[in-house]
Amino acid sequence: MPAVPVRTCIGCRRRDAAAEMVRLRVTDGRVGIAGRGDSGRGASLHPRPACLETGLRLDVLARAFKQRVTIQDATELLQQITTANRVGTQAGSPPKSHRGGPGPSEGSRGST
Ligand SMILES: [Zn+2]
Repeated sequence: MPAVPVRTCIGCRRRDAAAEMVRLRVTDGRVGIAGRGDSGRGASLHPRPACLETGLRLDVLARAFKQRVTIQDATELLQQITTANRVGTQAGSPPKSHRGGPGPSEGSRGST
């Protein structure tokens, strides 16, 4: 049986199953939601108000990502987190297709 991936929440600093958390990543210094296939520098966060409040602070994020970061639109990011969480936890395996048409992520998949 494969070990369940565990991550540390940057909000409450607790370790928990990665599936319970939303994964963030930084692109060009901006914090966003990591896609399913995304790897690299990331941070995980419980989609709970308390964790989000702490975890989405710029100083906390900067420490987690080990670089200076910005949040372009905190409200939008929060919305994405709650949406992603809802989709991710409802079924055993989240659907592969993204719903919602024109997403806010622009050029997130650039070549290195
Ligand atoms: Zn937490």
